Amino acid sequence: MTFTLYNTLGRELQVFRPIVPGKAGFYGCGPTVYAYAHIGNMRAYVLHDILVRSLRRAGFDVTHVMNITDVGHLSGDNDEGEDKMVKSAGERGQSVLEIARFYTDAFFKDSSRMNILRPTVVCRATEHIEDMIALIRRMEEKGFTYEAGGNLYFDTARFPSYGEMALLRLENQKAGARIEVDHNKRNARDFVLWFTKSKFENQALVWDSPWGRGYPGWHIECSAMSIKYLGEQFDIHAGGIDHISVHHTNETAQSEAATGKSPWVRYWLHNEFLVLDREKMSKSAGTFLTLQNLVDAGFDPLDYRYFLLGGHYRSQLQFSWESLEGAKNARKSLVERVKNLAGRAEKRAQAAANSGDGPASGAQAAYLEAFDAALENDLSTPKALAELWGLLRDPNVEPGGALRAVLDMDGVLGLDLKEASSPPAEGEDKETIREIESLVGERNAAKKAKDFVKADGIRDSLKEKGVILEDGPSGTRWRRA
Ligand code: AMP
Ligand code: ZN
Repeated sequence: MTFTLYNTLGRELQVFRPIVPGKAGFYGCGPTVYAYAHIGNMRAYVLHDILVRSLRRAGFDVTHVMNITDVGHLSGDNDEGEDKMVKSAGERGQSVLEIARFYTDAFFKDSSRMNILRPTVVCRATEHIEDMIALIRRMEEKGFTYEAGGNLYFDTARFPSYGEMALLRLENQKAGARIEVDHNKRNARDFVLWFTKSKFENQALVWDSPWGRGYPGWHIECSAMSIKYLGEQFDIHAGGIDHISVHHTNETAQSEAATGKSPWVRYWLHNEFLVLDREKMSKSAGTFLTLQNLVDAGFDPLDYRYFLLGGHYRSQLQFSWESLEGAKNARKSLVERVKNLAGRAEKRAQAAANSGDGPASGAQAAYLEAFDAALENDLSTPKALAELWGLLRDPNVEPGGALRAVLDMDGVLGLDLKEASSPPAEGEDKETIREIESLVGERNAAKKAKDFVKADGIRDSLKEKGVILEDGPSGTRWRRA
């Protein structure tokens, strides 16, 4: 089976062929931590999670990198408006770093509640300023930049393939569509690589640079950090469709200009929007719901995960409370069926042990194969869910084999079906289990990145909480001491 993805570059389905066979380097644009992530944002991160889990299941060794934007993202993507972090800090009377820490924690809490695996590398913009400066210098040395009004700009006119992915044409550039025009720019699509204090007097976080004391533009952080952790060319980059025309276009221009290598990224994945009453869900317009809003309304975060999996990532998805209610009911009946299946499998196993019979043959294999094929065909989660349901409804599949296949499927779907099939120890609540499992995942990622100090630290902190980890050939298991 070949793994196929829809590549925004070229706008077609393409077989995934990584740079290094068997490995996949993946960068997904992470959150700007000035407010809670909204449920539309979570759609993007669930897609990243499904991509990572599907690639791993297909046998790829995946390195997943996610950035945390804690500096430099203005309220408009095109260098206009206020700094999002500074604005939020001002409104709440806290420092920018306090705001960043608070919302970063809130983001990972939401992610873990939705069973989104922790990326292999999580990197903060404020901790990579040196890398950004070094990358900008490479562009500068090659003549791709100019200084104006105290800022350093990327000169799009010097980069002929600018905007190829977004199908933009340079001669059609018009600044008129924007509310605010930066008169320092030679071309409307030029963008800031480095802001100096002269433009934003109230910027709390500033660094020295060859262009003056200031701070980086938003796009440069993704180029600098992805290159640092994945190399000058890598396999997959993802984000929402709103990022195609500005953010990802600018990331590409900077990276290819600096390194002279093209393509910078082989496969670009973009998720369509989650819409609320036909409007785009937007933090700045104040029209958004958070995961906590759904929890407060009586939903489990996994109801929302199930709801998202019911739509293909390239189709717009309309959010409504009625459809979330539908997802909740469907997930409830899914869990009931898995519990029932686990009970039957247990009885069968006991009966077989008594009579000496082995388990019957594997009719479940066809479902598992179709499930894998669905995900390997541009991550079709609706089709994959249909295969799971088909298996659970098929009376002819031997329960033990069916249960094993269901749990295999759940390794990608992330719906906690394992928990349903083996009830947790008394007193153990779901939140605690997810928290432990998220830490186990983080430790595995640290081990993979050879950060043994961090890995051991996580093991010790779990031990303090009475959780023992056992590393075995099929992964890490945990148990209560
Ligand atoms: P931001 O924090 O605004 O950079 O957004 C984080 C991620 O969520 C990006 O990949 C966006 O493209 C994506 N995104 C933003 N709004 C939505 C939405 N309503 N539906 C799906 N994805 C979205
Ligand atoms: Zn980005």
